[in-house]
Amino acid sequence: MPHSLNSRHAVYAGSFDPVSLGHQDIISRGSRMFEKLTVGVGINPDKRPLFTPQERVDLLKKSLTSFANVEVMSFEGLAVDFVRRCKAGVMLRGLRTLSDIEAEFSMTLANRALAPEIETVFLMASERYTHISSTLIKQVAMFGTNADQVREPLEAFVPREVIAAVRAKFVK
Ligand code: ADP
Repeated sequence: MPHSLNSRHAVYAGSFDPVSLGHQDIISRGSRMFEKLTVGVGINPDKRPLFTPQERVDLLKKSLTSFANVEVMSFEGLAVDFVRRCKAGVMLRGLRTLSDIEAEFSMTLANRALAPEIETVFLMASERYTHISSTLIKQVAMFGTNADQVREPLEAFVPREVIAAVRAKFVK
């Protein structure tokens, strides 16, 4: 690969607001495919996230302790520039739905124009996590729990280590 990028090192960039079981599944599978995987928390000044970038990094780190070849950091600016700074050769993405494919297709073409030396690799979401999005997590959290519920509903959407932090954001 030209430009001394490492094709065995991938970057998985996103908002991770917060990390979900779907993200964790992509990270787990990606960590088996690549020698090193960097999870990049993007700082987008146009978005109003629930969690600060530092909180998102901390929650990712807490839920990824079992993956020795995975590192987590935040970045500002374009994802392709972050990938270059990491000297990684691959951008990893997850695909859930047809509408994801459409959006990811345009983004990948734009990224290729900006950085033709970086390849994008897509992993199809596992069927049990396809429906999970940050929006859904926030909606579920907004409704709280009631005393009759035996199980915490968020368990089906986010790693165990993330539940208390999401709940804390919605305490009235
Ligand atoms: P963005 O703000 O860039 O959409 P996200 O953190 O929502 O960032 O997602 C980052 C990547 O993870 C994207 O490629 C997205 O398609 C993928 N992704 C999001 N949710 C899931 C899921 N439930 N299963 C698999 N991949 C997912």
